[in-house]
Amino acid sequence: MSRRVIVIGGGAAGLIAAGRAAEVGADVIVLEKMREAGKKILVSGQERCNITNSAPLDKFLAHYGRNGRFLRNAFHRFFRDELLALLARYRVETQEERGGRIFPASGQAGDVRDALLHYATTHHAEIRYRAEVQRLLVEDGEILGVELANGARIPAHAVILATGGASWPATGSTGDGYRMAQEAGHTIVPLRPALVPLTVVERGLAKTLQGVSLRNVACTFYTRKGDGPTKALRIPYPMPPTARLSSPQAGEILFTHFGVSGPLILTASLAAVDALRDGATVTLSIDLKPGMTTQEVHMRLQREFEENAHRRLPNLLKGWVPATLADALAGLSGISADGSPELTAGRPVHTIRAEERARLVALLKDFRWQISGSLPLASGMVTAGGVTLKEVHPVSFESRLVRGLHIAGETLDIAADTGGFNLQAAFSTGYLAGEHAGSEVEREADG
Ligand SMILES: Cc1cc2nc3c(=O)[nH]c(=O)nc-3n(C[C@H](O)[C@H](O)[C@H](O)COP(=O)(O)OP(=O)(O)OC[C@H]3O[C@@H](n4cnc5c(N)ncnc54)[C@H](O)[C@@H]3O)c2cc1C
Repeated sequence: MSRRVIVIGGGAAGLIAAGRAAEVGADVIVLEKMREAGKKILVSGQERCNITNSAPLDKFLAHYGRNGRFLRNAFHRFFRDELLALLARYRVETQEERGGRIFPASGQAGDVRDALLHYATTHHAEIRYRAEVQRLLVEDGEILGVELANGARIPAHAVILATGGASWPATGSTGDGYRMAQEAGHTIVPLRPALVPLTVVERGLAKTLQGVSLRNVACTFYTRKGDGPTKALRIPYPMPPTARLSSPQAGEILFTHFGVSGPLILTASLAAVDALRDGATVTLSIDLKPGMTTQEVHMRLQREFEENAHRRLPNLLKGWVPATLADALAGLSGISADGSPELTAGRPVHTIRAEERARLVALLKDFRWQISGSLPLASGMVTAGGVTLKEVHPVSFESRLVRGLHIAGETLDIAADTGGFNLQAAFSTGYLAGEHAGSEVEREADG
């Protein structure tokens, strides 16, 4: 009898694992609990699937934060070029876009999912839908097979756990793999949402600004624990691409009814979530004019005040920021002669005193928000945390605790920022898990 490999989960990691295991000669069964495979691939990249990124290896690895080192070995064996060549074999041509992001040229995420399905089935992998795995069958440190939710047991020589994370549960990833791995003895690094919108204390203001998108601003997060010093929060990922923007740190943010989102916020979100979990307060400072120094903002504002002496403040500010924000800033600056609501935002600029103008400058350069939390795990684009990498071989993705069990994709403690990095990790770990589970190679030496 040929070697049987069961793949739990028909997502990005599971499908490529199944294809590779079958390609190297194994008898492969994919058990997918949904009615169709790769539902998360279908929603990825706004349904266009940002497959990977053209960044060179070292820069690429930086997008995984601290755990990027773990992927170096895997990427030496199966990286972007190998992935794109494989997809091309199944007629998926690709194109590169801003920030090195690589998408299928068709603009259809479905083409990527179908290519992976084709890869698996061409090599005779069997895909069973609505087949939910309940637990791993482990005896004496060795995998024996799996048990389905309906109680049926399927024996196997190797099992690849590729159940994804716990985000976007409607796509099928409901965190089952963490429980199964834990039952098999694995340590789970606490799960946290990553690439997730953040909530703010100033809900009323956020609601007012809901829908306002700022394309050329810079963000700095500050943390403070107890009576300790205020520190700039270290964001473990490089900030998003900045081409054509006025400052190297500039990028896009979006106000929502609960707080802030957009690329700059998503990239920083895990660090902010972790700081809050650590008991720190987190403050966001938005520099609305990152291309100008405070002094330059001051001088330009002064000049505009002189040239437009009879204009009302919000109208003048509309030349600086979107209209809704201009109104809000005029109000927040507290520029008011007697505190009456009409005057608060509406004084002609020639009546504004130097110290009032200084408050406005401060707001434009340091628009502060207090971060109260984030949307829940289910709303993050990826789940940070998962099976600790210490318990998994970095080439075969075989468990160090259970022989014959391989773990791939988001179930591992890997979370990258946006740009195609999460899918590349799922593809590389899945491919190698499939290769090693499918061929009876001996357990690789560590490292
Ligand atoms: C909206 C959105 C957009 C994204 N866009 C991008 C992008 O453009 N580029 C990028 O790199 N990353 C993107 N990501 C992240 C990326 O999609 C995931 O990191 C990646 O899909 C993880 O692959 P995976 O195979 O580990 O898990 P998944 O793709 O989630 O697959 C897991 C599979 O396991 C199945 N399963 C779960 N439990 C069981 C069980 N008990 N029994 C049987 N089957 C089970 C699930 O149904 C699912 O099919 C995006 C994520 C989201 C939510």
